[in-house]
Amino acid sequence: MAAFECVICLSIINQLFKMPELPEIETIASNLAPLIHAKIITKVWTSDLKMRSQLSEIDKQFLPGRKVHNVTRVGKYLVIELLEKYLLIHFGMSGRLIVTQNVLEMQKATRSLRHIHLCLSFGDFLILYQDPRRFGSVRIVSKVGPKTTRQLSKFLGIGFEPLSEEFGAKELFYMTRGISRHIKVFLMDGKKVAGVGNIYAAEALFRAGIRPTLPCFKLNIAKCSQLVACLKSVLLRAISKGGSSLRDFSGLSGERGSFVDEHLVYGKRENCVICNADLRRMNIGQRTTTFCPSCQR
Ligand SMILES: [Zn+2]
Repeated sequence: MAAFECVICLSIINQLFKMPELPEIETIASNLAPLIHAKIITKVWTSDLKMRSQLSEIDKQFLPGRKVHNVTRVGKYLVIELLEKYLLIHFGMSGRLIVTQNVLEMQKATRSLRHIHLCLSFGDFLILYQDPRRFGSVRIVSKVGPKTTRQLSKFLGIGFEPLSEEFGAKELFYMTRGISRHIKVFLMDGKKVAGVGNIYAAEALFRAGIRPTLPCFKLNIAKCSQLVACLKSVLLRAISKGGSSLRDFSGLSGERGSFVDEHLVYGKRENCVICNADLRRMNIGQRTTTFCPSCQR
């Protein structure tokens, strides 16, 4: 356990409170899996403060003694799979996980034990969920209903997994018929497409040459095909780079996700990398969006 002599954070304290998206949760899941796979939860503690959802007393009595069978992602949920139930963590706006050997070590490194709302003990190390704004949620779902993670996704009302084979140009085309809202807002709706937020919607639309404000019904099949291809490639590339670090996110190893270096529009103030036009910023669906007025039509 030498690697855990000091605190290893899944995400660095943030000031921007960016919500992690599919590639960041995927990175958390793949880093967490080898650490807790086949390990047994020995103790559970939760704070009394209200979050979007929190474990009940029954849940807290259930968890000790349970073995972790798998760690994966569904939508923007981190899924810790047990034999009979799923333990789900949604990071909300500001949630992060901290892995530490003991609380004193964590206190030394972070100088704060505030905003901890869940502590899972695995005997020789702890996983803490910290969430200053408390938009995150922790919940248990029984496998009596959803037996697979795919069924779990449906149970939670989550839309298409964008990297699945089931999500293609035809699906996007049919889903967007008769819909007049902006395509960017549609992409960020987790009930339609899972796990895509402000960063990856903006980056995929730029790469596809599609204006974020385009009404959905105006996407023809060629544009749908282009957008699906760009969304898949941007998400895969981001996963391969450990996600995007925006002060607030880094992988379990503490290394920061380097896809931020490949952002072409998100958070950019430079000119367009393709045509050199001034990038334009506007508010779409209460989120700042940057796009190129010349390349994106
Ligand atoms: Zn341009």
